[in-house]
Amino acid sequence: MIIYGFKGAHLRTAPLPAGSSCPACATPDALKASVYSRYAHVYWIPFFPFSKSAVALCEHCQQGWEEKTLPAELHPAVRTLKKSTRFPLWNWAGVGVLVLGLAGASIAGRYHERDRLAYLAAPHAGDIYTIHSMGDSTKYSLLKVMSAKGNTVEVAANEYEIDDRSPINELNAPEKYSKETESLTVLDLQIMHNKGQLTDVDRLEE
Ligand SMILES: [Zn+2]
Repeated sequence: MIIYGFKGAHLRTAPLPAGSSCPACATPDALKASVYSRYAHVYWIPFFPFSKSAVALCEHCQQGWEEKTLPAELHPAVRTLKKSTRFPLWNWAGVGVLVLGLAGASIAGRYHERDRLAYLAAPHAGDIYTIHSMGDSTKYSLLKVMSAKGNTVEVAANEYEIDDRSPINELNAPEKYSKETESLTVLDLQIMHNKGQLTDVDRLEE
């Protein structure tokens, strides 16, 4: 279960501009207004703010007004104070962490993609290709490069298929590969990669 909800936070209290007088007791320059933010939290981590509210208080007669009951003559000053009060950055903490995490994952993914294309363009003996069989879309298997010469590789097919996008841990054992090999060209590999039949390249020994 995910615990989430809304919380309020006090942002600022400031006197209303000189010259405004209390609608209740008419004392001049005794009014203050406070601005609050309302933000969404997930597990009490602030995620994002979505509204501001304000209350006004007379320090002389202690009369207070919520936004809904605010006398009309105080509206402009309270609105100006609200507008000039920014949501603090910590109200966005969860969104910030998410954005940083996604950016990090995307950079890591791009590095991995670059490695994969470089490995495909210049195969080494020992490279292991993850193969996605097109007939049954949840099955993955491996091809192992036994030797590479010029533009041609000799690959041995793994004799097993499993429901795992990263089958290397389970399937990469010498006795699970076919004793027979077949020849593929670098172009064949690139076409398989473009079609989504060859989904990953691992180079275990450098
Ligand atoms: Zn008053």
